[in-house]
Amino acid sequence: MLVTQENLQTLAWEKMADLIPAIIQHHKTGAILMQGYMNQASLSQTLITEKATFYSRSKQALWVKGETSGHFLNVKQVLTDCDKDSLLIACEPIGPSCHLGTESCFPEQSLSQQNFLSQLEEVIKSRKNDAPEDSYTAHLFSRGTTKMAQKVGEEGVEVALAAVAETKEDLLGECADLFYHTLVLLQDQNIDMSEVMEVLQKRHQK
Ligand code: AMP
Ligand code: ZN
Ligand code: ZN
Ligand code: ZN
Repeated sequence: MLVTQENLQTLAWEKMADLIPAIIQHHKTGAILMQGYMNQASLSQTLITEKATFYSRSKQALWVKGETSGHFLNVKQVLTDCDKDSLLIACEPIGPSCHLGTESCFPEQSLSQQNFLSQLEEVIKSRKNDAPEDSYTAHLFSRGTTKMAQKVGEEGVEVALAAVAETKEDLLGECADLFYHTLVLLQDQNIDMSEVMEVLQKRHQK
């Protein structure tokens, strides 16, 4: 169930002694970023401010994640489970979510292969905004749209040639090139892969 300001009192607060675990998930990649506890006040504040706000049991106070580090969690969606005693919150993280400096408090988790594409897309996005000197992706952005489009065209042809005249290994490599350069071109056009996925999903429903 989608949790809103209107229905948040219907959660199992009494059973949970006013503390419900909240699992924070990356809104794009699905990665689990961290887990904390929310009471009614912190959940209400989370919904109003759209910044994940927990109840800190050690400090016995509301805690806005990022209040000292600046690593806020911008809330996109709040869900509760079947018996309303846990929360699944989709967020866009600003910086690393773990206070030890890793993106997630569960750095060893393995993402599904499909989610790896989303993770790669996030890295490409950050290269576009940051442009570190030694980054090939940043170099591609600096060369401009025409060159990026050309690259996608070349890789498409290379995929086709590899399929008819080369080894499976060659084909795998060329497909990887094509996926990567397509993600770069989409980011150049400010288009997210999720918009392409929506087109595919709509076609599938027909
Ligand atoms: P922050 O909320 O990011 O400004 O961090 C403030 C403090 O909250 C840190 O020094 C930690 O004690 C704690 N903290 C931050 N992030 C986490 C986390 N992901 N899990 C547990 N504690 C955290
Ligand atoms: Zn439950
Ligand atoms: Zn952590
Ligand atoms: Zn290639």
